[in-house]
Amino acid sequence: MATRTVALTWLALVLLLLTGAASAKRPLVLDGSSPDILLHPYLSHLHDPEGRASLAEAVELESRGRFAPLQSTALGFQPGATWLHARVTNLQPQEPRWLLVQRFALSDRLDVYLRHPDGRVTHQAGGDALAFDARSIPYRHPNFWLHLPLDQPVDLFIRIESESSMQIPFVLQTPTAFTGVAGDAQLGIGLYYGILLALLFYNLVLWVSLRDANYFWYVFHIAAFGMVLFALNGLGFEYLWPESPRFAQLSVPLLICLAQIGKQQFARAFLDLRIRWSFGDRVSLVLMVFFVLLGIATLWMPIGLSTRIASAAVFPSIGWIVVSSIVVIRAGYKPAWLFLLAWAMFLLGTAMFAAIAFGLVPKNFVTEYGVQIGSAIEMLLLSVALGYRYSSLRNENERIVQAAKLELEQKVERRTSELSNALAQLGDAHARLRESSQRDSLTGLHTRSYFREAYTPLLSQAREQREPLSILMIDIDHFKRINDHYGHLTGDECLRSAAHRIGQALRPYRAELARFGGEEFVAALPGMDRDAARDVAERILAQLRELPCLAHEHVIPLTASIGVHQVDPQRERGIEAALGHADQALYDAKNRGRDRVCVSAPPA
Ligand code: GH3
Ligand code: MG
Ligand code: MG
Repeated sequence: MATRTVALTWLALVLLLLTGAASAKRPLVLDGSSPDILLHPYLSHLHDPEGRASLAEAVELESRGRFAPLQSTALGFQPGATWLHARVTNLQPQEPRWLLVQRFALSDRLDVYLRHPDGRVTHQAGGDALAFDARSIPYRHPNFWLHLPLDQPVDLFIRIESESSMQIPFVLQTPTAFTGVAGDAQLGIGLYYGILLALLFYNLVLWVSLRDANYFWYVFHIAAFGMVLFALNGLGFEYLWPESPRFAQLSVPLLICLAQIGKQQFARAFLDLRIRWSFGDRVSLVLMVFFVLLGIATLWMPIGLSTRIASAAVFPSIGWIVVSSIVVIRAGYKPAWLFLLAWAMFLLGTAMFAAIAFGLVPKNFVTEYGVQIGSAIEMLLLSVALGYRYSSLRNENERIVQAAKLELEQKVERRTSELSNALAQLGDAHARLRESSQRDSLTGLHTRSYFREAYTPLLSQAREQREPLSILMIDIDHFKRINDHYGHLTGDECLRSAAHRIGQALRPYRAELARFGGEEFVAALPGMDRDAARDVAERILAQLRELPCLAHEHVIPLTASIGVHQVDPQRERGIEAALGHADQALYDAKNRGRDRVCVSAPPA
């Protein structure tokens, strides 16, 4: 859409400029009304496609009216030579010397002939095919001193041969007028390159400090483009390569190619085309390759051809940058707005210039300085766009870093809870393993070693809280006989049954019960003195008596003997003493006929 609007704007401008340009030929009389005369209303022209006509032939053809009035100061690219003619009469005795200036720097070869009424002819040559110091005045535009005799019509013939576009904005100026105009132009040019250089160095410093490739390509582009204009203005020939007419001609297409390479690469980097629009990126790459190849080819191609191709290719090249910008803007990339605006400015300027080169638009102030004004605004806007892009990318980066940090925190949290879950499971497994290692496999009661561990805190508690603590030592009576009589497996069954009965009898109490070994059991009864413990022991015996063991279809009565001991926490430091006393009481019970409870004697 934007490209169409721009194209229409150009068309309107072209028409506007063309309509004002047509004018008929008339003789030029220097009567002092102006010291600075645009020559084209007084010029007629003849195209010599072979470029072989001599001055004499040109004079002959002119006298036969074969020269046509000039429609425009730009004739586009033309093969061979172009002849121009004007008849000039100088009526000013105080101004015998005038300077003829071609306000276009790239003409290859100019021949200026002044033919006096007496048939005498003076000839001067110029153009960038000759060394720079061949010029009348060392100035960026070709210029020639004309000595115009007073009150005599002289014929001015100019022959131009050039591979660049044929542009003929000639002016005739008094020395004073030339000095004034040239000074003003020099100031304008100085201002322009001042802006360009400032932007160039500013962004160069940014590139060095930020290491962002965008700044490099911006600097590359601005430098190459600045050089193109430098060459077009004739300043390159004046200041940089005055000894090399060959390079003066080569520089324009070569620098245009370099500038386009810089532009495309800058656009690719700025718009992140590779990521945002890969098709656009590929086209942009193809354009770059094209300009690289064209740049190399200019070294061998006719300059006219390469200049024409390079100038023409500027349109699709910039057009593509505009299209890419629009695509990227529509995808929501905000910095591309400024980018597009900058290129629109430049596009206008370059379009003007290219249109002059093809003779579509005559040269005037707007078209000539439009390039400079447009490009200066463009470069400024691009520099601003770079800054904007940098800051918006930085914000985006900060957002990403923030999001990544949050995600990391959540991940760490998840991992931590997973880890603590695993640890808890491991703890449970460990506890279960420990528990099962503390159980006796036959009866399911705690083991003797567990009982020893559990006893210590019971003892301390009894000591600290001054509570009684008793222990029971229980041994099944004549168990050997059961084994002998019923077999070992039935014996096992009886052991399990006995363990179960004892456990049931102890359930109402805070008791710690363990299999002490063989058919012996041990129980600790915290909070119970010897009398309470004796009652509990009696209840155990009663339980055993009441419920005989049922094993393998046998009903086997079981009895046990129990030794009771009330622990003295102040004197008995470990379990051994307590076990010893309880065992002694058990021994007494056995001796007194079994199936009974004996209590150890209280300490004296
Ligand atoms: P007392 O009334 O004097 O205690 O006589 P007793 O036969 O019970 O005593 P003794 O210590 O002589 O014998 C204990 C028997 O218990 C010997 C052993 O075979 C038996 N025994 C020990 N552990 C087990 C076991 O795990 N399973 C079986 N079936 N028998 C066991
Ligand atoms: Mg026994
Ligand atoms: Mg025993």
